[in-house]
Amino acid sequence: MRRARAVTPGGVSSPVRAFGGVGGDPFVVERGEGARIWDVDGREYIDYVLSWGPLALGHAAPAVLDAVAEAMQRGTSFGIPCEAETELAECIVQRMPHVEMLRFVSSGTEATMSAIRLARAATGRDAILKFDGCYHGHADGFLVRAGSGVATLGLPNSPGVPHSVASHTLVAPFNDPDAACRVARATNGRLAAIIVEPVVGNAGFIAPDPSFLRALRTIADDTGALLVFDEVMTGFRIAPGGARERFGVTPDLTTLGKVIGGGLPAAAYGGRRDLMEMMAPSGAVYQAGTLSGNPLAMAAGLATLRALTPELHARMAERTARLVTGLRAAAARRGVPFTADSAGSMWGFFFRGEPVRNFTDAKASNVDRFRRFFHEALARGVYLAPSPFESAFVSAAHGDAEIDLTLERLDDALGAALS
Ligand code: PLP
Repeated sequence: MRRARAVTPGGVSSPVRAFGGVGGDPFVVERGEGARIWDVDGREYIDYVLSWGPLALGHAAPAVLDAVAEAMQRGTSFGIPCEAETELAECIVQRMPHVEMLRFVSSGTEATMSAIRLARAATGRDAILKFDGCYHGHADGFLVRAGSGVATLGLPNSPGVPHSVASHTLVAPFNDPDAACRVARATNGRLAAIIVEPVVGNAGFIAPDPSFLRALRTIADDTGALLVFDEVMTGFRIAPGGARERFGVTPDLTTLGKVIGGGLPAAAYGGRRDLMEMMAPSGAVYQAGTLSGNPLAMAAGLATLRALTPELHARMAERTARLVTGLRAAAARRGVPFTADSAGSMWGFFFRGEPVRNFTDAKASNVDRFRRFFHEALARGVYLAPSPFESAFVSAAHGDAEIDLTLERLDDALGAALS
């Protein structure tokens, strides 16, 4: 890390990796296999970060490695259409039928940024409504009350974002349809899009009230704005067909990332055909990328999605729920105020007795206790996200044995964190 800090800011390629949210130095990873990773000092961890979500099949999953190796034999990038792009697009469209067309990009940031450009072009309006604590990548207009990394660093907003850009971003609390309605109406017909993480992952794990997403659909319809579900984190995690399948609410546009690249850089935005046809070259809205639809990333994503059958989803969701239930029970036995929840293979917890419904509640949790617990867990070989405002994941490689071992270690870690 000393060497890394000399040549990269904070020694990391993305801020939350620096352990700023929990203190201490991050470990330097050497390799991963299945549910486990090893650091360069030979320590082994059961991994619940999973590269921040993409690794639905676990580390170095044979299906993904084989698919990438096979694709790599034929070249690494072409910049002209390749069959794998269409295959992956068809696979996504089949599972998310409301995504009638999509465009591949290389990061979630590009996906959300492009979806908003499209929404602005389609509506001829500038304002967007986001929710406090939701993170939609690091494009200028999204770095307003943006949760996780930004909150962990204690930065309410980022310097370098022009006021003129940030002023188009309006913010309401998550799970508060009345506030969203008030903010949307106050724009007087200027609202281009409402963008939301259907299950929040970047303020810690926060589930939506059943009526909240429905209310957003109504507000969007009433104000003529488009509804964008940012499923970069939730896509192919919370249900085989994503938030629409889980909550029965259909967005106009959807952004995807993480799992659809299977651990390689791929993301996408898509939705209604009439909207997507506005993108160049079909339409006039410009967006492009040298490595978009990269054949290795497409191969990794395709191998991941093909393996993620509804049966596997169900198995992963069941194991995740068992982990969360076990953690709640451990906290209850020790008399610790604690709340934990999951959706599919995405989960999270807070050291707080009352339910956490929005980012204000999340920040009222006991973050000092989280930090102690994080380090006690790490010392016992369980790697949780190094911030109280992140979510965790379970992969297909986390079997019953790993869940049992994790529960044992985390119970012990909890005891140590309290002493
Ligand atoms: N949207 C959501 C919901 C995310 O969780 C993230 C990243 O964590 C992004 C967008 C940005 O994706 P990326 O880090 O690939 O740019």
